[in-house]
Amino acid sequence: MAPRKLAAGNWKMNGDLAALAEIDALVAAHPTPGCDVLICPPAVLIHPMKARIGRAAIAVGGQDCHARTSGAHTGDIAAAQLRDAGATHVILGHSERRADHGETDAAVAAKAAAAHAAGLVAIICVGETEAQRDAGRTLTVIAAQLDGSIPEGATASNTVIAYEPVWAIGTGRTPTGDQIAEVHALMRERLTGKVADAAGVRLLYGGSVKPGNAAEIFAIPHVDGALVGGASLKAVDFGPIIAAL
Ligand code: PGA
Repeated sequence: MAPRKLAAGNWKMNGDLAALAEIDALVAAHPTPGCDVLICPPAVLIHPMKARIGRAAIAVGGQDCHARTSGAHTGDIAAAQLRDAGATHVILGHSERRADHGETDAAVAAKAAAAHAAGLVAIICVGETEAQRDAGRTLTVIAAQLDGSIPEGATASNTVIAYEPVWAIGTGRTPTGDQIAEVHALMRERLTGKVADAAGVRLLYGGSVKPGNAAEIFAIPHVDGALVGGASLKAVDFGPIIAAL
């Protein structure tokens, strides 16, 4: 059975307590969304956002976690702490973390295993740079990232994969439908044998998803939702994307 679609918002290092008013607007405009909805705010907003959401059908997630359960890791957050604050998901291996913090595939796999152990769904991000695409290496790069970043024990219920071409993030540029379809088909095939119930793993597309291109992107085979950055910050943008799923 095709998985239920997921609209996931990544607020990145944006937002504050006042920005939680966007949650009220989103719930008011879309009280019963036809897909799963998730917002991943900065860690300090997870608990207040969860409280603000109340009984509405919006899940909350983190943007990173540490691979260890506790200890002397100043500035880091354990998966169980995210869960304690109200998170059910965590984004891992986003290209901005791979670039800013040198996260390797092995580090992402270790974090994903920690997320699973804490009962969180890991949203594992992969994506090629523009230079890699221009060199014709996209599929090789994605396959290697998948192989290296997905831990043992991954299943359709505890793992989501997000394909986010680095060059499409925050740029207003998106791949063609054929390019997205090619990568998503490769990902589905690559997961088979590696992840239990590979057909049920949600494969998100991310990178400049907007209200104006969401419906077109969601119609592509093996696209089970989106990971949305800039357009997830305002209900007026994220709402129509949710409605397009
Ligand atoms: P964008 O970011 O939608 O602003 O391009 C997507 C992401 O980085 O998850």
